[in-house]
Amino acid sequence: MRTLKRYTQTWLLDRPFVIARGASTSIDIIRVEIHQDGFVGIGESKPTPRYGHSAESVMEEIDEVSLAIEQGIDRKALLERLPAGPARNALDCALWSLECALEGTTPTARLGPPIGHEIVTAHTISIATPAEMAEAARQELAQGARLLKIKLNDEQVVERVRAVREAAPDVRLIIDANEAWAPENVEAWCRALAELDVEMIEQPLPAGEDGILADFDHPVALCADESCHTREDIARLSDRYEMINIKLDKSGGLTEALAMVEEARKHDMAIMVGCMLGTSMAMRAALPVAAHAVIVDLDGPIWLSSDDVPSLDYRNGWVRETHDT
Ligand SMILES: [Mg+2]
Repeated sequence: MRTLKRYTQTWLLDRPFVIARGASTSIDIIRVEIHQDGFVGIGESKPTPRYGHSAESVMEEIDEVSLAIEQGIDRKALLERLPAGPARNALDCALWSLECALEGTTPTARLGPPIGHEIVTAHTISIATPAEMAEAARQELAQGARLLKIKLNDEQVVERVRAVREAAPDVRLIIDANEAWAPENVEAWCRALAELDVEMIEQPLPAGEDGILADFDHPVALCADESCHTREDIARLSDRYEMINIKLDKSGGLTEALAMVEEARKHDMAIMVGCMLGTSMAMRAALPVAAHAVIVDLDGPIWLSSDDVPSLDYRNGWVRETHDT
């Protein structure tokens, strides 16, 4: 017999997080616990208004399937019962964690990466003046960051990246425009950022308006984030992007995320694993995707004032799992 609990939590950020769509100073997350035979599986998700989700809508979706979960449906059946998104993510991750706990293991012990393996994660520089972003980059470098992700909108694109590049001449740089660029600028800005040794540009154009990316040679790898939620999106995007950003809150859990890894391979696309802001609970659930990724962006907990999960250690620009339970 299983029992399901679900609740919301609010977590404060230790500094404002600013991207093209706006700024946040706190986040609301949803946690799901599934109890069975003295074991518990826990999943966490974060609703994103960009995709039409709120804490209330996610709780309602969870309630739609709570009886079926308590009656024992598995992860595969859940894929048929709920659409991709944060509600299915929290439930799928809780089922993974319960299923592994019942077998005396964990999702990462089963799927990788190995416990203790140091995984370089991006550290995010949020949008500010070029001078402020350069200073933020210096602070990240002082803490050991090796890969910086620069958030941009459609203003001061080259100036902001140049300021960070001058402050951090040797670090790997990736960009996230969060859909903010206009089609007429995209090719020239890609070329300008290639000259600043940018490694990848995430989602320059709005989802659904990115067809022109197939029309020019990319001087920098482009990565689909807002355009790519589940494996069904991948074939359509394969002539527009070299990489996809898999996030469990978009895919609706680890089960679909691992299917996306397989589908991306068929289309010769590289894997990035990303996150919404969240605690180490949510990041740990995404680690099996990190085992397949060329870029890992799981710095959510670094933005929080506190974290309640001691299983992940963030240091020197990497993250690693410290517990095998
Ligand atoms: Mg992104």
